[in-house]
Amino acid sequence: MSIDVDPSASQTDLPAGSPAQAADQTGAQPPLAVPATAALNASNAEAAVPAELTNISERDLHFMGLAQAAADEARAAGEVPVGAVLVRGDEVIATGFNHPISGHDPSAHAEMAALRAAAQKLGNYRLPGCELYVTLEPCLMCAGAIMHARIARVVFGARDPKTGACGSVVDAFANPQLNHHTTVTGGVLEDECGDALSSFFADRRRAARERHAAAGRDGEPGASETL
Ligand SMILES: [Zn+2]
Repeated sequence: MSIDVDPSASQTDLPAGSPAQAADQTGAQPPLAVPATAALNASNAEAAVPAELTNISERDLHFMGLAQAAADEARAAGEVPVGAVLVRGDEVIATGFNHPISGHDPSAHAEMAALRAAAQKLGNYRLPGCELYVTLEPCLMCAGAIMHARIARVVFGARDPKTGACGSVVDAFANPQLNHHTTVTGGVLEDECGDALSSFFADRRRAARERHAAAGRDGEPGASETL
């Protein structure tokens, strides 16, 4: 359960070896046992853990598995591995993976890609009755787009303690003045989704060390760290 999710796992990548990246090895553990949604809504005790936050079904696991496959596509492209799947009922409308680097597009998060593709496919900028599965907790940008699209439900995997907008840093969906539509389920296949991110950043740190060593910059000879 120790998820070494890189803080830059907010899909906005950092150059390998950057100072911010170097500081990312704190093994950040999601600080919230219960998403802040619940804490903020805990004006009455029975609302402390909304049912949708604990009601994880086989169906959720299936679609999160598809989102993980989309994340693998991002990884293969050298992008931070985050994937998303947009479904309506049992139909997959669209998938998307994170690709801001190759797309030269700071908004090219997995959720945005899936939302755009789904809206094009359905010919509607609003996507009522749809659910979005994503392997990493959405950021504020994506939370905003999810609201604009009138997504009925968001299901995410790993929590993002740096930029998560579903309870980890802020909870955009807990504000009834902003959101009237979307329920949120967090932590579906949380460890698996977090592991994909952790291994990506571990590989990248290792590659950076090896580049430094190869460049003769007194890198530690034994740069073959254990992962
Ligand atoms: Zn985002």
